[in-house]
Order: sequence, then structure tokens, then C-alpha cells
Amino acid sequence: MSRMVKGLFADAPDDNFYVKEFERRAVAPKDVDIDIKFSGICSSDIHTKRGEWGPTDFEVCPGHEIAGIVRAVGAEVTKFKVGDRVGVGCMVDSCRACDCCKVGEEQFCQQGMVPTYNGYYKYDHHPEKGNKTYGGYSTGIVVDEAFVLRIPDAIDLDKAAPLLCCGVTTFSPLRHFGLQKGQHFAVAGLGGLGHMALKFGVAMGAKVTVLSRGTSKREDALNLGAHDFVDVKDPEAMKSAAGSIDFILDTISAKHDLNAYLSLLKLDGKLIVVGLSPELLDVGVFSLVLGRKTVAGSLIGGIAETQEMLDFCAEHDIHPEIELVSADYVDEAYDRVHNADVHYRFVIDVEKTLK
Ligand code: NAP
Ligand code: ZN
Ligand code: ZN
Repeated sequence: MSRMVKGLFADAPDDNFYVKEFERRAVAPKDVDIDIKFSGICSSDIHTKRGEWGPTDFEVCPGHEIAGIVRAVGAEVTKFKVGDRVGVGCMVDSCRACDCCKVGEEQFCQQGMVPTYNGYYKYDHHPEKGNKTYGGYSTGIVVDEAFVLRIPDAIDLDKAAPLLCCGVTTFSPLRHFGLQKGQHFAVAGLGGLGHMALKFGVAMGAKVTVLSRGTSKREDALNLGAHDFVDVKDPEAMKSAAGSIDFILDTISAKHDLNAYLSLLKLDGKLIVVGLSPELLDVGVFSLVLGRKTVAGSLIGGIAETQEMLDFCAEHDIHPEIELVSADYVDEAYDRVHNADVHYRFVIDVEKTLK
């Protein structure tokens, strides 16, 4: 039997969120039915709701940083049981058969992964083929077990939620592009993604510098474990940091001058972009050829890698800094994220406040 849950919906870019009841599908043999306890607010939710990446397919119920407890499982589920602590990230399905899916890079599925919200189930193997996806700003979700993650006991559920997107999005490129112990690593933009990148960089043994606009986040950055801080608005500070960094992870959510960041790299340095600026970023060829520099991008991470990241966080006692908010605070939280006033991830207390 399907069940009704409550969700936070928006109908237009400038409208506020409102609470609505909607249906979650009956539990199919491979499904896990989850009571959502906490849901993180990612800047991607904001880009989507505000139509910044192009027209949004409204209505939208965002949320792809989901942590909760299993309330029921289908007859063929093997990995989870009722009462387990679980998470769901940015994807709820993929084709499962292409070269990317076969090697656990479902986020790059050649037929297209199905996003947790604002997408459509489209594969024949899926019980909800043709239906739209609604995300984690809701009291419950039903997800195929292949896209459900186990949350280690060492991580509190509220702090686990953001790891499902901002954790894996920053962990994956450090692994894939090979951040080495002892290297000088810099995080561009100290927001949700940035502060997780900082923590992973420290745990992986790098010297970590934060690149931020102004000095207001200097003390926080150092308290979070950064070794150095550069105000990118200060020409003297930028000049003295020039040519000193091996690896930059760029988490910036808006247009910025990539060439200025590239000038900070050493010979063979890498700048990996994960921030999804709605506007094009210009790269001058001389910024690349002088110093043989690399610019590349990365998108979240695969399911197995997401589990690896969660286990890494448990092992290294890494968790996001969160501000727990009520469901009726989401519109204000969006404005604060937009103004870079987030320390460092908003998490909605779904169970207590989404009524
Ligand atoms: P966030 O918390 O808002 O952090 C973004 C940070 O970027 C801000 O704190 C700010 O840092 C900096 N920033 C913002 N506007 C800027 C500007 N105009 N110029 C320079 N710096 C600016 O956002 P988030 O949740 O971490 O997400 C960051 C970006 O990653 C978003 O675009 C999001 O959509 C994207 N994302 C990508 C993936 C992926 O798979 N690739 C996954 C998740 C999210 P300072 O205040 O320190 O300057
Ligand atoms: Zn996200
Ligand atoms: Zn695929």
C-alpha cells in the first residue's frame, strides 16, 4: 500500500515553501521505506528552486541530503532491515547496465541517473516508471536499496544528512584526482562543500588553505583545522600566495575569475571545479599553459564511494558543522545561504518540525 507523507513544496522561483501531503509508492520487493529525520539544504536546491540553471519543472520538493530510519523493507531487500540508520543522496536510480553504472560511477550513467528530486523515473526496471521524483524535504521516502546508504553508528543522524551530497562531492575528487599527503591543498569558497573539503584535506594529511572573500571566515577556517587563509579580495595576499598550491577544489556557487585562482597553482597544479556557477567561467589559455595546469570537474560520487566516504567520516571523526532549523525557516535559510551566511550547513529537523 502506498502511504501519504508531508513535504515542503514550491510552485515558483519567488514563492515561499508550503506544506503539502503527497503519496509515496507502495513498497516494491527491492524497496526501502524510510522515515526521514533530517534533510540538509544544499545550494543546488536553491539554484533549482530559483531557476538559476534554466527553467525549473515546478512543483518542486527538493532535498538530496537525507538521513532517516528504515520503517519497512520489500521482500527481496538484503542490505537493510527495519530500524537501520540510512541515508539517501542525489540519485535514486540509474540504468544499471552502462559502462559507468557497471563500475560504480552511477552519477555519470550514460542513460542518465534519476535525481532524487525534480527528475523522472524512466527505467523499465523501476516500479514508478514515468513518475516525477520528490526529495528529502519530506517525512518519508521509498528508495530502491541499491541507492540507500548505511549510516555508521558513530555519526549522529543530523550530521550525517549533509554528507550524502556535500560530503561525497568533496571526498570523491580528492580521491580521484589524487590529493597526496604533504601537498598544499586549497579550498575555494568556505560554505557547505568548502568546509567538508577542508576537513577531508586535513584528514588526508595535506596542508590546507582556505580561499575566501574577505576575512570574516578566517577565524572559523583556522578553528576548523585550516593551516592558512587567503582573502582573495586582497591583491597583496593573492600575490604572496601565487604559485604555492598543488590542488584547488573550487566550490564556488557563482561566477568568479578562474584565472585568478589558477595563478595560485604550482607547476602541474590542478584546479577541480565542483561549484555549479549558473554563468560560464572563462579560462585564459595562458593561465593553463604557463605551468602546465589542469582544470577539471567532478560530480558527486558513486554509491560505493558514498559508503566509503561515510565510513571514512566515522573512522576519522569527521562531521559537518550544522545549524538545525525548523521546516518553516527554509525560505530564510535560502536567503542566508545566498548571502554566504551559513555556518556551515543548514539541516531541517524534519521529524520534529515538518507537520
Ligand atoms: P554554499 O554553502 O553557498 O557555499 C558556496 C561558497 O562559495 C560561499 O560560502 C562563498 O564562500 C563562495 N561564493 C559564493 N558566491 C561567490 C562569488 N560570487 N564569488 C566568489 N565566491 C563566492 O554552497 P554549497 O552548498 O557548498 O554548494 C557550492 C556549489 O556546489 C553550488 O553551486 C552547488 O550547486 C554545487 N554543488 C555541486 C555538486 C557537484 O556534484 N559538482 C554537488 C553539490 C553542490 P566565501 O564566503 O568563503 O567566499
Ligand atoms: Zn547537493
Ligand atoms: Zn547507466
